[in-house]
This record gives sequence, structure tokens and C-alpha cells, in this order.
Amino acid sequence: MDARFFGAWMEECARVVHEQRDYLTRLDAAIGDADHGNNLDRGFTAIRQALAESSPAAPGELLTLAGTTLIRKVGGASGPLYGSALRQVGKALGAAERVTLAELSAALEVGLQAVRRLGSAELGDKTMVDALAPACATLSRAVTDGIKPLEALRLAADAAEQGAKDTVSMQARKGRASYLGPRSIGHQDPGATSTALIIGALRDVAARSS
Ligand code: ADP
Ligand code: MG
Repeated sequence: MDARFFGAWMEECARVVHEQRDYLTRLDAAIGDADHGNNLDRGFTAIRQALAESSPAAPGELLTLAGTTLIRKVGGASGPLYGSALRQVGKALGAAERVTLAELSAALEVGLQAVRRLGSAELGDKTMVDALAPACATLSRAVTDGIKPLEALRLAADAAEQGAKDTVSMQARKGRASYLGPRSIGHQDPGATSTALIIGALRDVAARSS
């Protein structure tokens, strides 16, 4: 996978987040402040612009720029969290012009650690971690088991989606939704849902470019 691939991933994230922004905002209206769709739409639109202005030659450089842009443009909790994650993934990929799925899997793990460090959320706290952690674990296992890249990404995207669905029954213990206490139960977490869209975008771009 080269910089073009990762540019296409960010482009697909921008497209799908834009398409699903009302849905994400509705989820955030139920347990937050109804801005998640707009936050991410604004953030990924800015990423698209930043990448159009300077097209980085290395995947790591590209994702670092994307992360920096998100942090700059999105004020909510999700901006710094996704932004730091992308920056750490970018740093972990380094200056290589091509990366393997095993390298991406290891880098995504570093991104997950960044989210956990910054947000101090555990599994089961009803946050993006509940989608990102199972996606990373599933991808890592698939790579170790020698499963073909496309199938590995499909499994990872399924795990993220299942993780997002599993947040419905959880009580939020981090972020704005935690203010609701037990009343946060019964709603799907917006951040876990957008994580599923982002990992789904990775799967779709890989399917298209293979
Ligand atoms: P804000 O909550 O500031 O309005 P957003 O609405 O954009 O920001 O994002 C909300 C999402 O951010 C939540 O659904 C949750 O997944 C995620 N989130 C909030 N706080 C944390 C945290 N401490 N750790 C991990 N994820 C978090
Ligand atoms: Mg919000």
C-alpha cells in the first residue's frame, strides 16, 4: 500500500462521513450534544483540502498530516482523539513509500494506544475504543494467521461494526454521554459508529484497488 492508497482511504472517509453525517449527529443528539457528524464532516473535508494542497509521497507522512489537520479543525472530543490516532499511525509507518498490511496492523495498534492514553477509556466504557480495539485485534490475528489482506480487512471492518453495535447495551463512562449515567444505555455510541465507518472505508478502498 502506497501514499495513493492512503489518500484514497482519507477520501473515502470524507465521502462516507459526509453521507452519514446526519445519522452520526442523530446518535450524538441522543447521548451527547448533536455535533459528531458535523465535527467529522468538517474535519475530513479539511483533510481532503490539506492533501490536495500538498500530496505527501509516503503513507506515514500523509496520515500524520491528516491527523494534524483533524486536531486543528475539530474542537470536540473526537477531533483530538482521531487526530492523535492518525498522527501516531503515521509516525509508526515512518518514511517508507510502501507498507504491508502487517505494518499497517501494527501501526493501527499504536493509534489505538494513543486514543486510550489520551481519553483513558477502557473497553466497555461506550466509546470509539469499543469499535477500534476489536478491529485492531481482529486484524492483527488475521495477519498472524496468514489470512489474505482483503479478507483480513473485511473481518476487521465486521469487528468494528459489531463493536459499535455492542455499545448499545453499555453505560457510558467517558465523554459527554457519561453525564447521562444509566440513561446512556440503549443508544449506540456515535464515536464507535464513526470508527466502524472509517475501518469500513479502509476495507472498501482495498477492495477497489485490488
Ligand atoms: P464531543 O463529545 O466533544 O461533542 P464528538 O461528539 O465529536 O465530541 O465525539 C463524541 C465521541 O467521542 C463519543 O461518542 C465517544 O466515542 C468519543 N469519546 C468521547 N470521550 C472519549 C474518551 N475519553 N475516550 C475515547 N473516546 C471518547
Ligand atoms: Mg458531540
